[in-house]
Amino acid sequence: MPSPEAPASGACIFCEIAAHRAPSYTLYEDAETIAFLDLFPFTRGHFLVIPKRHGERLTDLPEGDQNALLRTIDRMCRRVGRLAPDYNLALNAGVAAGQIVFHVHFHIIPRYGESNPFHPRQRTAIEEQDARAVVAELAPP
Ligand code: 5GP
Ligand code: ZN
Repeated sequence: MPSPEAPASGACIFCEIAAHRAPSYTLYEDAETIAFLDLFPFTRGHFLVIPKRHGERLTDLPEGDQNALLRTIDRMCRRVGRLAPDYNLALNAGVAAGQIVFHVHFHIIPRYGESNPFHPRQRTAIEEQDARAVVAELAPP
């Protein structure tokens, strides 16, 4: 169920993913958070960590959800090393910062030596076969 603060039903795609009403390649989930592959990855294995409770920005969340989010980020930062030792952890807050989905989320972007992963060649949609391979590589130990 989306939180009471969520926008009208179906308006927020990440609330839909958190509630399993929209599909995602889920990497990790607990009561407060979920991590899943980005649909248009900057690099192979680019994924997002979100709170299940809707909020536009980190500062909109209660402290408990912030703490839960950091715990999941820590867990997933350890796991991402299976793909690449280096990664970016990023949060875009607001339109001017590049936020396009207004449900707070952290990007975890494995780095493989690209010159600039934030201005890459055109991003192409994730392919199912590779998505499943990445999910397997990042599965719980
Ligand atoms: P932002 O620019 O808001 O920080 O990033 C939003 C991210 O969400 C983008 O990287 C975009 O590719 C990703 N995204 C947008 N819609 C969906 C979706 O329906 N499913 C998934 N898995 N990712 C999405
Ligand atoms: Zn939402």
